[in-house]
Amino acid sequence: MLVLRDVSRTYQDGQPVHALRATNLRVEQGDYISITGPSGSGKSTLLNLVGLLDVPTAGSYLIGGMETADCGPATLGAIRGQLFGFVFQAFHLLPGRTAVENVELGMLYGPHTRRQRRSMATEALERMGLSHRMHADPRQLSGGEKQRVAIARAVAARPRVLFCDEPTGNLDTTNTAAVLAVLRQLNQDGLTLIVVTHDSQVASEARRRLRVTDGVVDET
Ligand code: ADP
Ligand code: ADP
Repeated sequence: MLVLRDVSRTYQDGQPVHALRATNLRVEQGDYISITGPSGSGKSTLLNLVGLLDVPTAGSYLIGGMETADCGPATLGAIRGQLFGFVFQAFHLLPGRTAVENVELGMLYGPHTRRQRRSMATEALERMGLSHRMHADPRQLSGGEKQRVAIARAVAARPRVLFCDEPTGNLDTTNTAAVLAVLRQLNQDGLTLIVVTHDSQVASEARRRLRVTDGVVDET
């Protein structure tokens, strides 16, 4: 589904940084992939490239056989909006809005009507085991609940791939377990997961493990 061929990313402000070197990777529908490596090794760079938040400085990135380098920013934005969801370490929820409103906001610029957004947001929160927290303010939620609201927001519009950057980085073991359980369920339901993590427990959940060292990606 997603194919990287000799993809590199060099940052060019001042001294060039070879953040990612000639990387080859094939992501299939239904994969559960972890990305680990030391701080500064290139994990976020890899995640950002595969997630179309950044573009390679060399190499080829194909999505469903289409060369992304031939697409304009509008097309890339549309692909990202329809196929991809994102979850980060910081939950990025708006205080003063309820959980269901936060999830709806994630779909504000999509094609769905207000009614559809409400029904999709409600369903996503139910899948996360948060039916009882629908109208809670994020400030009233535990870390694990906040992250599950953020995951609901990322998956409500039914993307094909979910990208997670340190999704349990701010969570204790109990809340980490709750987040891992919903990720496992989403993957069992067919969602492709790509997860950057420092946590070996999180990495051990994945079926494919990538290790990044100085911009070089190895599958272990
Ligand atoms: P982590 O180790 O949690 O992945 P980093 O602190 O390495 O996070 O980077 C966080 C973000 O800051 C990255 O996604 C990257 O885009 C940006 N960043 C990292 N290093 C630099 C830098 N030297 N100059 C500009 N931006 C950077
Ligand atoms: P990780 O996620 O593994 O911590 P990153 O992908 O964030 O690593 O960073 C890889 C390397 O690229 C680091 O040396 C970092 O400082 C550098 N880097 C990341 N983003 C930028 C940026 N926007 N500008 C310059 N250098 C960056």
